[in-house]
Amino acid sequence: MRILTTETVSKIGETVELAGWVANRRDHGKLIFLDLRDRGGIIQMVVTPKSAAYETAGKLRPEWVIRVKGEVKGRPEGMINKDIPTGTVELGVAELEVLNEAQTPPFPIDTDGHDIGEENRLKYRYLDLRRPRVHKNIQIRSEYVQRVREYLFAQGFTEIETPYLTSTTPEGSRDFVVPSRMYPGQFFALPQSPQQYKQLLQVAGFERYFQIARCFRDEDLRADRGFEHTQVDIEMSFVTREEVMQLVEGLMITVVEAMGKTIKQKPFPHFTFKEAVAKYGADKFDMRSEAEKAAGVLAFAWVTDFPFFEKDKEGNWTFTHNPFSMPAPEHLEWHLKGEHIEEITTQQYDLVCNGFEVGGGSIRAHRPDVLKATFKTMGYGEEQIQKEFGHMLEAFSFGAPPHGGIGSGVERMIMILTGEQYLREVQAFPQTAKGHPSVMNAPTLISPERLREFGLKLDEKQIKK
Ligand code: ASP
Repeated sequence: MRILTTETVSKIGETVELAGWVANRRDHGKLIFLDLRDRGGIIQMVVTPKSAAYETAGKLRPEWVIRVKGEVKGRPEGMINKDIPTGTVELGVAELEVLNEAQTPPFPIDTDGHDIGEENRLKYRYLDLRRPRVHKNIQIRSEYVQRVREYLFAQGFTEIETPYLTSTTPEGSRDFVVPSRMYPGQFFALPQSPQQYKQLLQVAGFERYFQIARCFRDEDLRADRGFEHTQVDIEMSFVTREEVMQLVEGLMITVVEAMGKTIKQKPFPHFTFKEAVAKYGADKFDMRSEAEKAAGVLAFAWVTDFPFFEKDKEGNWTFTHNPFSMPAPEHLEWHLKGEHIEEITTQQYDLVCNGFEVGGGSIRAHRPDVLKATFKTMGYGEEQIQKEFGHMLEAFSFGAPPHGGIGSGVERMIMILTGEQYLREVQAFPQTAKGHPSVMNAPTLISPERLREFGLKLDEKQIKK
């Protein structure tokens, strides 16, 4: 039975079997030292000229895949390597089998990789992911998501998946679209968030919903933004703004403290949008001192009372956060009448941490007339409202409970937890800065036959080949 490198420390004197990648080979006179890497970590191994494995060991190159058998030996006091968890032991290799050879990797894997060009790292992402730093980030991400799930299940939430091939759901970005073969010339939109479905699930009586949801947004790429991101997506019925915020605060505190982090201030401080802008000049801000930054402290804060609407480039009113939000109770009359639009605030809340917006949500307009008023303010005519959002208005006419929720970005939280500056360091297969996926070649042209199936014709002049 194969065991992990990290399990060897308690097995001194035993013969064990290990498997993994050759991280390093050093020949010291007659002795051959090998570092073996597996998902647990790294162990030093020694092959002596007396070993049956000696000849094969001499041929090994970095990243070859091997299986070995040998005795775990305690290292003498002076030879202990404090930098690795297996530093107290080494393996005396008795048998060695090569499972696969490897070409020389295009870049080193045993460094932090920050100095290697992004294009190359992502082209060979499966090698880059062997790098301990990146490997660890992905493991931390998995742990975070697991802890979030555990917390929410314990609070009575149901995890529900919602469709990817659907209709537009506005979050202020462009949609990615997918052509339909069954309906030539027509397109699905990939959801910018599960917003509408999670609200429909409240109408359906799932009073506590969550999803680890993928969201697709066709927007300009930045350090902390990709075409795809994952969010912890939550929606709850019969709750006030404060109750949603309390739930999310409990979730964050429990999860990040379990992961060994310190939080600057509990309960999280609250700012109105106006207070935040007056104090920090922005609605996301970093409250940490230099010492707290160095110690990896997390400084969360809530921001509330945002303006509901702002003017877009054409001078028309558009939503600041979410068209499905409920206005503040004291502004509901104005909202329904379309008056004092610039003064209407929404029951939106943003969660800020270390300068990032790590969450945003709101209490929703669960009455059809309130939601309709939002779209009217945005200049939609009756026909357009019915066409784009008639299904929501209809659903709300069948006894929609008051509800609200939040979406909290997984990548941004993992960037904070790991101290990474770029989204690509915390996604297994991120896009390149030029908008291509890792490893694979996309987008690509498709054959004329497929285009015909979709009822599409290309504008040859626009095609970049
Ligand atoms: N739909 C929002 C978003 O994706 C989150 C929410 O309001 O629940 O940002």
